[in-house]
Amino acid sequence: MVMELYGPGKPARVLLVEDDARAALELGEMLRSVWDRGLVVSHTRHVADAVQELADHGATCVLLDLREQPALDVLAQLSNASPATPIVLVADGDDEEVGVAAVRAGAQDYLVRSELSAPRLARAVSYAVERKRSEAALALQALHDPLTALPNRALFLDRLRGALDRSRRTGGPVVVLFLDVDGFKEINDTLGHGAGDRLLNVLADRFRGMLRPMDTVARFGGDEFTFLFEGLESEEEAALVAQRINQSAAVPLSLGGQQRTVSISIGVYIVNDPEEEIDDVIRQADTAMYRAKESGGARFEVFEDVMARLPGPRTHLERELRQAVERAQLRVHYQPRVSFTDETGLEGFEALVRWEHPELGMMEPVEFMSIAEETGLIVPIGEWVIGEALDQVERWRESRPGVTISVNLSARQLSDSHLVEHLAAAMRDGGHDPSVLCLEVAEGALEAAPELAMRQLAALNELGVTLAIDDFGTGTSSSIMLSELPIHILKIDTTLVSRLGLDGADGDSVSDAVELGHALGLKVVAEGVETDIQLAQLRRLGCDGAQGFLFSEPMPEEGVLSLLGTS
Ligand code: C2E
Ligand code: CA
Ligand code: CA
Repeated sequence: MVMELYGPGKPARVLLVEDDARAALELGEMLRSVWDRGLVVSHTRHVADAVQELADHGATCVLLDLREQPALDVLAQLSNASPATPIVLVADGDDEEVGVAAVRAGAQDYLVRSELSAPRLARAVSYAVERKRSEAALALQALHDPLTALPNRALFLDRLRGALDRSRRTGGPVVVLFLDVDGFKEINDTLGHGAGDRLLNVLADRFRGMLRPMDTVARFGGDEFTFLFEGLESEEEAALVAQRINQSAAVPLSLGGQQRTVSISIGVYIVNDPEEEIDDVIRQADTAMYRAKESGGARFEVFEDVMARLPGPRTHLERELRQAVERAQLRVHYQPRVSFTDETGLEGFEALVRWEHPELGMMEPVEFMSIAEETGLIVPIGEWVIGEALDQVERWRESRPGVTISVNLSARQLSDSHLVEHLAAAMRDGGHDPSVLCLEVAEGALEAAPELAMRQLAALNELGVTLAIDDFGTGTSSSIMLSELPIHILKIDTTLVSRLGLDGADGDSVSDAVELGHALGLKVVAEGVETDIQLAQLRRLGCDGAQGFLFSEPMPEEGVLSLLGTS
């Protein structure tokens, strides 16, 4: 029986660690009687020599047979020094315990010295080699991503740890890139998961193809890839690599039967301090990647310390806000708007968003609106609010026909080129009558970009929705500009209303606003009405409607349902 121990042309090396010279000779003979061709048997007496031999030449298998030294200790040392090399232990007793202890200490098999024979020895060696191979294959699987066969997150982090260790000793630079596919979700949603998988595989192949053997690219999770480079000389070199990766991703590919071009966002982090925690290294690269995304994607950003110096809670909050929609943490509260002229009194509701933060509790817009606005997150958040509000109002209209819903539009939303298209689709898909929706745009938002605002409002008006100017009185919009806007309602800002009824205060500015509104044919509504005195004055001044704590605070949908008497 001749067992295959080595591939064609490649001699097998068996390292005998044996402290008895005669026994060493005998074991060598036994091995050669089975594998005559090309078998190299080397022999050492001491563990230190064995470690050196393994480091210099490696071995197909180690055969460990010691009488004068503690065999299990040596076994553990060898297995640590060369984890990939199978080891067969020759031991004295034949009790089970020795065998179990041997395997625990790192042996693949063990043999009882008194029962040694050439075939037994050959079988043990072959078995040990085979077992090590399958262990290695399993380990490989556990450390690789099954889809792309790239190293997975665990292996990447392990290699990063190794690179940082080396950098501590040699001072060599370590660079980490964090990469995320732009619009991956959209590809998955529109072309299916098969296309998404294919895209990841194509990218994996491209990335693999452009790396040097010592570099690592890993699939970190989802559509995220990470790269590890050692020995890049400068920031410029790192930037060049990032650029090349970016270009490689930009080559068109066919997805779901279509030619597509995808883009990626890359964060580059050059580790300055090898003592840095692994998690921090990843986080910095990730932060830089987010910057690249925020600047529109299809680019890379190099992490700079200023980012780390940004106030922690704010960037953290920003990260959480990104996920708030997906994680269903946003809520809409509704504040009633009453009409002075209409018999029914209750005219509609204003939708006001809240964020139910898992730790911080219910957060009001003032706590997160500026982040939403600056990052552009207000666009998806606003789309969600509109969808939610439209669904609700349709339910309410079953018991109270004619009730409308108002939703706020920020400056950023108003300048979003997809706004009109999105609203039209929401109306059509939900079968909504456009007149149920009123959009409120703050006076200040109009002033930021008057011409764009004008065009957008005209298009929204075409859709048939009602338009209101919010926070009126806080800005400086001229009556001429107002007269050119296709608007229907003027909402007088809280600050003007709050001055009503105060000692010595006249109602001049409110009165002017009402007059202007009526002159332009608009309905005038007062905001932030808190007292009966304010209410009385507003009525006297000819206001058409009002909103405020005097009537009701914003409430969750259950509150609306009970107000309408439907629950
Ligand atoms: P806004 O559009 O002027 O909304 C009215 C704000 O005044 C609301 O604050 C409301 O709770 C508050 N309020 C209502 N009655 C009274 C009152 O009698 N006295 C006082 N002092 N305040 C009253 P909230 O809900 O905190 O919203 C603040 C702002 O956040 C809103 O101002 C609006 O500009 C923005 N916002 C809220 N939800 C959304 C949204 O879904 N999208 C956009 N783009 N902005 C939103
Ligand atoms: Ca409003
Ligand atoms: Ca307002």
